[in-house]
Amino acid sequence: MKKVVKFGGSSLASAEQFKKVGAIIRADGTRRYVVPSAPGKRFSEDTKVTDLLYACYRAANEEIFQKVLAEIKSRYQEIIDGLELSLSLEEDFKILEDNFRKQIGEEYAASRGEYLNGKIMAAYLGYTFVDPAEMIRFDGNGQFDAEITEALVAKRLKDVTEAVVPGFYGAKENGEIKTFSRGGSDITGSIIAGALDVELYENWTDVSGVMVTDPRIIPNPKSIDTITYRELRELSYMGATVLHEDAIFPVRKAGIPINIKNTNAPEEDGTMIVEDTCKKPPYTITGIAGKKGFCSLFIEKSMMNAEIGFGRKVLQVLEEQGISFEHIPSGIDTMTIYIHQDEFAEKEQQVISGIHRAVNPDYMELETDLALIAIVGRGMRSNRGTAARIFAALAHANINVRMIDQGSSELNVIVGVKDEDFEPAIRAIYDIFVETQI
Ligand code: ASP
Repeated sequence: MKKVVKFGGSSLASAEQFKKVGAIIRADGTRRYVVPSAPGKRFSEDTKVTDLLYACYRAANEEIFQKVLAEIKSRYQEIIDGLELSLSLEEDFKILEDNFRKQIGEEYAASRGEYLNGKIMAAYLGYTFVDPAEMIRFDGNGQFDAEITEALVAKRLKDVTEAVVPGFYGAKENGEIKTFSRGGSDITGSIIAGALDVELYENWTDVSGVMVTDPRIIPNPKSIDTITYRELRELSYMGATVLHEDAIFPVRKAGIPINIKNTNAPEEDGTMIVEDTCKKPPYTITGIAGKKGFCSLFIEKSMMNAEIGFGRKVLQVLEEQGISFEHIPSGIDTMTIYIHQDEFAEKEQQVISGIHRAVNPDYMELETDLALIAIVGRGMRSNRGTAARIFAALAHANINVRMIDQGSSELNVIVGVKDEDFEPAIRAIYDIFVETQI
């Protein structure tokens, strides 16, 4: 039995946190492959080491360079001293400084956060340090190459029983360091788990799993014990930020579940993310997420229903302007397109005139400052009255619903409200399903 365990930046921000992580790993002999992030924030106004590295690299020829570099060094030294390790990173920092001055690449710079933290972690645990530059491969265009990576990981780690593999980066064939997008250590963990075909991918963070909704809106929301990949995908798309979006695919492909756990409360079960489950969720809904900042473009034309190709022509205008759409609820002679407001604002006049030219509508109207809320849950399919409860709750809270879209998967209901009704709407929906337990 083997597990891949990934620890996020806040789990490794200080020696204190490292000690918790060490205890977690030592408590279970199957936690054999460890993927660390760079040290994150120790307190809310603190700066993540990754951000310090970006700043340092950009300042390589400026006066403040030494100051930022010293700050980075001290973050690591503090951890080394707190763990009473005899490790020295002096050589590594010499190389880093030299490469920063040579400006060999911003992604190289950012990757050093994980690289150095991995060195400390390996020394602390007595595990083998394996540089992901040797096995996480990007192609010439900078695209992640899953196939080659899988083979390289399986080969490199075949005989390594316990390893630390820094997260967030890999390399092109020519050795040039490439990073994933921010938060990308989640992806590294998933790739290693998939390639080694382990039993479980544990993703350790500073919350006890995926929450039913955003804790900034509902203080201490309930956490979800089991969620399917599809549900999580819907919630992440609508703004829930537990796991990097690209971290799902490599483990999902191999049928490996992910367990989100809390480094500061390891005794809690956290959230299991699975392909499918017989487990009934405790509430009809699994989660609620949403985003503000949408606008809607309402288009009316009599006999629209009989005009073949109407929808395509309208959408083609958006395509030509490089704008993606979110939802298109439609009526008999009407259609409404929901679009990200910031994407739309720059091109609005081109889009409006383009639609006039393409389909000659009778009337068009633009509405701004809208929010979309997704109510997601595999339990909705088998429960009657879910929609009725959602809309009753919103009506009681005096919220005007501007749009309703039930996905054909019956996995979610999406409602559109004004931006200012966003938080009250989420509260009302949370209350009716979670607080009153129906
Ligand atoms: N250190 C990187 C970041 O801050 C990657 C990660 O933490 O997953 O985005």
